[in-house]
Amino acid sequence: MKPRAIVTGAAGFLGSHLVDRLLTDGWMVLGIDNLSSGRLENLALARERQGFQFRRADLRRKLRLPPATAIFHLASPASPPRYEADPIGTLEVNAFGTAQVLAHAVSCGARVLVSSTSEVYGDPQVHPQPESYWGHVNPIGVRSCYDEGKRFLEALCAAWQRQRGADVRIARIFNTYGPRMAPDDGRVVSNFFVQGWRGAPITVQGTGRQSRSFCYVDDLIEGLVRLYAAPPDTGPVNLGNPRGEATVLQLATRIRRLTGDRSPIVFVPRAADDPERRRPDLRKARRILDWEPKVPLATGLSRTSEYFHRLADRRGR
Ligand code: UDP
Repeated sequence: MKPRAIVTGAAGFLGSHLVDRLLTDGWMVLGIDNLSSGRLENLALARERQGFQFRRADLRRKLRLPPATAIFHLASPASPPRYEADPIGTLEVNAFGTAQVLAHAVSCGARVLVSSTSEVYGDPQVHPQPESYWGHVNPIGVRSCYDEGKRFLEALCAAWQRQRGADVRIARIFNTYGPRMAPDDGRVVSNFFVQGWRGAPITVQGTGRQSRSFCYVDDLIEGLVRLYAAPPDTGPVNLGNPRGEATVLQLATRIRRLTGDRSPIVFVPRAADDPERRRPDLRKARRILDWEPKVPLATGLSRTSEYFHRLADRRGR
């Protein structure tokens, strides 16, 4: 019998890539998603494979879950426009959803890996950000449903670990990009590619001098798999690509070039509480996971460009 893994948020960008990887690694996988931001087409490959089951369900409701060896808890809106459109739902899935996952894990002896985020650092005053940095978060700002939702998720994991012996790993995921990003997700990479392939203006918010560190999805999935196998007392671990740091304007220029140099770059107002800089301090991940992202930004962007080009072609027909 193969071991069973439950993946929440299975139809999302990261969830679906993780499902594919777990199936390849010999797991039976039950994917759960309410399809609020996930897309079934992301699971097209998985659904043709042995050992995969999908259940459309909302983790904010009490669910009957089967016993499992592993639970990968990724369910949550994750792009700013998505979580800002449903702040209550975002807080609820990270609170009730996570509580449900932890209770089930303890009852069946499963190990849990949860997806946290670099957003727990808020608009950081320390650069790059190590896991020991406690962050700089506006608790009532427009992003707080996500930032505080994920901080609560981490607090809940720590409490369940201390009080009930839960076996938990916490991934603090930095900006990740690649094929299967939703074209209407509103993130910077997807927006710029969709705009570029349409020849529409590329919308740089603010001056474009703010930075993010962009990690290619295959590297991130490898980091998650390694973190799942790491010792129990590791605490939160940053997963991202420090060498992929770029300003938004640099990204706009690159994506404009990759999509045929047709789009003008335009400047539009900056979102509230938008973090200025973000780059993972990767020392802990290197030490504990012996993990390093391998795909350079140029390579990752050109693979992602092909994906968005195919999407644009399909929609154009
Ligand atoms: N951004 C932009 N144009 C867009 C979308 C985003 O300039 O069309 C900027 C946004 O202001 C932020 C950065 O890109 O500074 C990253 O935004 P994203 O929504 O991708 O993710 P975040 O890291 O903020 O969660």
